[in-house]
Amino acid sequence: MSTMRKSTALAIQAGKGWYWPTNTRKAHYYLADNRTVCGKGVVLVLPEDLAGFGTYPSPDDCVGCTRRVAAAKSALAVEGGAS
Ligand SMILES: [Zn+2]
Repeated sequence: MSTMRKSTALAIQAGKGWYWPTNTRKAHYYLADNRTVCGKGVVLVLPEDLAGFGTYPSPDDCVGCTRRVAAAKSALAVEGGAS
């Protein structure tokens, strides 16, 4: 099993958080540049106070985003545990 690159994990950690666009059925996790980690659900404007990286995803969240965020948490946890 490969771990996510640390730079990728840090970019996800620094993201804006979970947001549910009105035109989608799932909440996506948004990066600092308003892209999602799954590549879907792109929006131009996001609220300021989104549920962030540490928020536990719900079953209504995008599976692709949930997996990428979980992988980022794992990669950062491994990094922290090794020091
Ligand atoms: Zn997504």
